[in-house]
Amino acid sequence: MTLKLYDTYTRKIRDFKSIQKNKITMYNCGPTVYDFVHIGNYRTYLMADFIRRTFEYFNYDVKQIKNITDVGHLTQDDIEAGEDKMLKAARRENKSPYDIARFYENIFLADEKKLNILPAYKFTRATEYINEMIAMIEKLIEKDYAYESNGNVFFAVGKFENYGKLSGNTLENLKTGSRLEAHPDKRDSHDFALWLKASPDHLMQWDSPWSKGYPGWHIECSAMSTANLGNTIDIHTGGEDNIFPHHEDEIAQSEGATGKKFVNYWLHGRHLLVDGKKMSKSKGNFYKLSDIEKKGLEPLSFRYLCLTTHFQSQLNFTWQSLEASQSALNKLFEFVRSAKEKRGKIIKEYEAKFNNALENNLDTPRALAITWEMIKSKNHSIGDKKITLLKFDDFFGFDLNTATIEDEIPAEIERLTEQRNEARKNKDWSMSDKLRAEIESKGFILKDTTENTTVKPK
Ligand code: AMP
Ligand code: ZN
Repeated sequence: MTLKLYDTYTRKIRDFKSIQKNKITMYNCGPTVYDFVHIGNYRTYLMADFIRRTFEYFNYDVKQIKNITDVGHLTQDDIEAGEDKMLKAARRENKSPYDIARFYENIFLADEKKLNILPAYKFTRATEYINEMIAMIEKLIEKDYAYESNGNVFFAVGKFENYGKLSGNTLENLKTGSRLEAHPDKRDSHDFALWLKASPDHLMQWDSPWSKGYPGWHIECSAMSTANLGNTIDIHTGGEDNIFPHHEDEIAQSEGATGKKFVNYWLHGRHLLVDGKKMSKSKGNFYKLSDIEKKGLEPLSFRYLCLTTHFQSQLNFTWQSLEASQSALNKLFEFVRSAKEKRGKIIKEYEAKFNNALENNLDTPRALAITWEMIKSKNHSIGDKKITLLKFDDFFGFDLNTATIEDEIPAEIERLTEQRNEARKNKDWSMSDKLRAEIESKGFILKDTTENTTVKPK
């Protein structure tokens, strides 16, 4: 197979070649857990899952690291406000920053599960890698890429020859504007922070050779990637806003410290938009996964929606398109459920087309189109179509095979589910809750959607 991927660094679609045969090392920039993660963020994590599943579909072993940023990021706004985002949340909710981080981390992990995002090999928490970050900063100082000033440490951007290669923000371009992190101890305004001295009321701070302080915005990913995956990795992902400065700075830090190439393929997802604007926490124009559930739609409808648009194109979110995705997904489940044949063989012709779509820079809209064409084709048996669809689902990740398990629901559970549907119709919510509890106590789970209720073993 020749898998082709668009790489941000070279701005080209390139033939993919892994460092080790049939093995992939991949680092995903993960969430900052000072607040809920919104579905725009999940689009980026779904992209990472699609990449992982593509490689697994083609029989690679994927070692995937996703970080959990439980140290507040430092931005210009934060410096001006004199506190970081984690601390703002802690004050707002009267909890310690660690409590806040664990609270949102748990919601994040549960959401990922609902979206059928496969768990990373490791979720690395930034607060557990402070020593590795300090060691990397020491190396950078030793190699003269970084300097200490008044208890703070900065990366001297001018010393790193390839600075700007990823984003196109060369020093020349940067000099003509662009937002900068202001700090009085910087030698050059373009330098970025590796370590910052904390004021006494800063809740999260650690000892270091330079000051009691906390790490800068970018060093955590460089340190955690190297510690877990080695100096050079196959793939690094993030959303398009991570390209600059975050990933540009990660390259400078990692390559400065190790002297080795950091990442072979940079994959960035375009944003999820609302009314043509980026979905973001700061604009307040975001939806949580629970908002989708509140509308009676399944989290997996969002997974389907994300597959309908290539991850390197912007996707404008509308409830209408999510509903359309939900009904398409229902049809896939319905097809598997109604296909009683237990036997079948993979339809080679469609498998070849499907593989080809994935190999072509993960063309997920085409993979979906081929799937529907296969389901509707008149030339193949239902059994063959079902087996082929289930194979494709190894990539899609809808867990369509759970539909076949639904055939094995005992009559008693079916009866209780019908009674509950009746209660729901009559808006008898206490009876409906009672029946749900009874069904669940017998080892089954219910899923309510706008159209129907399904039941399956836990
Ligand atoms: P943040 O919590 O802002 O650091 O974002 C976490 C991840 O989500 C990063 O990789 C961002 O690039 C990505 N991201 C943020 N907003 C969006 C959006 N509207 N659409 C897609 N990805 C996003
Ligand atoms: Zn990162």
